[in-house]
Amino acid sequence: MQFDTSYLNKTPNKTARNTTSFKPEFVILHETAGYGSLEWNLRPEVRSSYNYLIARDGKTYHYVNEKSYIAWHAGVRSWARGYSGGEINVYAIGVEVEGPNDGTPITTAQTKALVELIRYFRDTYAIPINRDYFFAHSTVAPGYKDDPRGYSVEYTLKLLDESSLPSTGPRPNTLGAQLRNEVYKLAKGEYRPDWMFHQYAFKNKLGSPIRVGMDFSVKGVRYTGEVYGRDVIISPYNQWDIVLRANDLTDQDVYNALMQFTYGALGVDYRPDQAFYQFISRPPRKLVGVPLGNSSRLQAGDGAAYAAQLFSLDALYTPIAATGTTNWSVVKQLSAIVAAQNASAADAALRETINRAMYSRINTSFDAKLPFIKKALEANLGAPLSSQRRWSYRNNEYLYVVYAGDTLFALANKPAEVRLLSEQAD
Ligand SMILES: [Zn+2]
Repeated sequence: MQFDTSYLNKTPNKTARNTTSFKPEFVILHETAGYGSLEWNLRPEVRSSYNYLIARDGKTYHYVNEKSYIAWHAGVRSWARGYSGGEINVYAIGVEVEGPNDGTPITTAQTKALVELIRYFRDTYAIPINRDYFFAHSTVAPGYKDDPRGYSVEYTLKLLDESSLPSTGPRPNTLGAQLRNEVYKLAKGEYRPDWMFHQYAFKNKLGSPIRVGMDFSVKGVRYTGEVYGRDVIISPYNQWDIVLRANDLTDQDVYNALMQFTYGALGVDYRPDQAFYQFISRPPRKLVGVPLGNSSRLQAGDGAAYAAQLFSLDALYTPIAATGTTNWSVVKQLSAIVAAQNASAADAALRETINRAMYSRINTSFDAKLPFIKKALEANLGAPLSSQRRWSYRNNEYLYVVYAGDTLFALANKPAEVRLLSEQAD
């Protein structure tokens, strides 16, 4: 970790240590309650200091070297640990985070720097990251000190515990990263280029996010997961380098539990006894994506009836005989009709009906000649997840439609020049 040392040990408000092997016992976290503290605490009459200060921009100053000096940042009337007066400073490191201490949240850059600094203390001094070692000033001096008010010590420690959760790093101001953010926003998330799920999804072309931030437990293991148009990905808690894809899960119990959770999150009935579910869930699994709704009765243009279920990348169906009976052992995929060289008239009518149903979900009429729809069919992007939306970026107006398999976009004044978001780097 990099520290700015331009103020290091310049304040007179410190006491030399009489040991060369100082090991801090805990860390006290403060907020400055004002600005200009780096200069202010150089004045002898102020009679206070601290070991580190994190400025609004996240720059971290090493102010008093804790190995050589005791900084004067906290005094206590009494504390459960038995310290009194300024004695607490002998054993503690004092960290100031710059802020008004009126409840205004500290900046994202400060949160990030604070997390890094706590990690540095752990690595340098073997201070365990938990609430027995990190204290708010208000905790050790209750009743007369109320800092910090701009951040929660407990929450900050939680961020460290889950250190690979979406980071607070900047998102590049590129077309790719910004449009991806629009797509994540539709899934009620936010695009984090340094979050491993988002990197994984981009690298492996998993298509568009449908649901982000699912937490669930299976067989005593806690997971977090995200649903994409082409697959669901999960990671065991705090083992963020492991990403598992639903379609690759070898443990059928884990797969079923994940699907039960995913169906629930998508508002679809989970019916493991149903023919459609059994068709897709048995290995080798069918790459149909995730369900967009329950199965329902469809009537094709030629009058034939089907039981059908729409998935993000495909649709499953089975004919309903004129007598009203259904042979559930016969499950077919829309993609087979699409792939067929010469579809029968009945299949063509069904394909048209399913396409209409997919587009009516987003209140759009299906017209295979329109540039976006044409491109989506050519590129096998599956179902549209959004209607056509407008977006402006660097003084240009764009149109885009989120599909399960990718997002299509074009300049508003050149709507026929359709591009794939997956081909745009950050
Ligand atoms: Zn304080």
